[in-house]
Amino acid sequence: MIEMQDVIKKYPNGITAANGLNIHIKQGEFLYVVGPSGAGKSTFIKMIYREEKANSGKIIVDGLDLAKLKNKKVPYLRRNIGVVFQDFKLLPTLTVFENVAFALEVIEERPKEIKKRVMEVLALVGLKHKVRMLPTELSGGEQQRVSIARSIVNNPKLVIADEPTGNLDPDTSWEIMSLLEEINLQGTTIIMATHNKEIVNTIKHRVVAIENGRIIRDELRGEYGYES
Ligand code: ADP
Ligand code: ADP
Repeated sequence: MIEMQDVIKKYPNGITAANGLNIHIKQGEFLYVVGPSGAGKSTFIKMIYREEKANSGKIIVDGLDLAKLKNKKVPYLRRNIGVVFQDFKLLPTLTVFENVAFALEVIEERPKEIKKRVMEVLALVGLKHKVRMLPTELSGGEQQRVSIARSIVNNPKLVIADEPTGNLDPDTSWEIMSLLEEINLQGTTIIMATHNKEIVNTIKHRVVAIENGRIIRDELRGEYGYES
């Protein structure tokens, strides 16, 4: 589902954040991306949904060659990718329902279908009873559940999560992980950048470690491999 060959990303300030990335990720895999701050994890992730463009090398996502993908076609790519952020990035003036419905409204689904699908995913994340609330009325864990509901409402093949538990306490972090596990069991590919050693060492999946823009380790059922 994702293929990178010799991918290089150099920011305009001269920093090389990806320095020859090669990786193959299959549909249905769960992959942790680990490594020190500034190693290039976010850059790796952002290139997959074309938030950042590579300078050279090949990136294929879901059959699309991202180097050849015109900017106006990027929405087609993103329709198949859900993204979850550390700081949730919910729209503060919209209710829980509206935040989740947004992606479907953009693609002009019928209102009845939108309502059905939004309630379905909100039930999945356990927030059916809070549909009318605003993000500020929810706990951090609940806000992350909303953002997970939003990420899967389109039935994407891939969910990308950049430190999804970074702002959450340990108990809430485990709850969020169960949700991501459940989504992965339905066949969705998950790519998750994380600094959470306990989670990586307990819920075993493929681990890719990045340092200085290079993949220095890639192991099935790997370990976190850093002290904290
Ligand atoms: P990580 O997610 O592992 O912390 P990043 O991919 O965010 O690493 O960053 C990798 C390197 O690229 C860092 O040195 C960072 O400062 C730099 N960097 C990230 N984003 C930008 C940007 N938009 N412009 C310039 N440099 C950036
Ligand atoms: P996050 O770590 O939350 O994913 P970013 O990817 O935006 O956030 O930033 C990661 C790192 O890249 C940080 O260390 C940040 O200071 C650095 N960075 C981001 N944007 C720039 C930029 N325009 N110029 C230089 N460094 C940047």
